[in-house]
Amino acid sequence: MGYKAVFLDRDGTINEEVGYMDQIEKFKLIPRSGEAIRLLNRNNFKAIVITNQSGVARGYFPESLVLKVHQKMKDLLKSEGAYLDGVYYCPHLPDGVGSPNGQSCSCRKPKTGLVDIVLKELNIDLSKSYSIGDRGSDIEFGRRIGAKTILVLTGYGREESEHSGGRETPKPDYVAQDLYEAVQWILKEDGGK
Ligand SMILES: [Mg+2]
Repeated sequence: MGYKAVFLDRDGTINEEVGYMDQIEKFKLIPRSGEAIRLLNRNNFKAIVITNQSGVARGYFPESLVLKVHQKMKDLLKSEGAYLDGVYYCPHLPDGVGSPNGQSCSCRKPKTGLVDIVLKELNIDLSKSYSIGDRGSDIEFGRRIGAKTILVLTGYGREESEHSGGRETPKPDYVAQDLYEAVQWILKEDGGK
């Protein structure tokens, strides 16, 4: 028996999409994100952030800023009674720039390398898990790990939803207004079993 988990995208899903997060002041939670994650905590879901941060490889901001932003995210969530069970990021570019040995990395979503790390640290049942994000790559990532997928309409979500179901943006299992509504759907799905 493994834990149920929800894999959460960061930018545009938990916090407002602002392009590259190159200043800590730009980090702001989307309304009800804290409440949504608190609900996951209370319902025995592991809440795990998986985020692409290629701004590091592009030289737009140092890796130390990513860590500071993640601390701020945890602090803001904590003030709303919510916590994250893990935060994992890929600092590379799609073509492998900035990755060890310059080859394509295995961790940039929709690739699933970061989940391999999660699975070494936590006993998770992916078949009972979910992926939430605002882009087609988040949906594709969720599909690859065998989780149910939810597209949120915050961040780039509205744009993406117009293309969803196409060759490059697979159709999610559910489309939610925001993270809070996505979690409501998950709890209903989970309770219905
Ligand atoms: Mg996003």
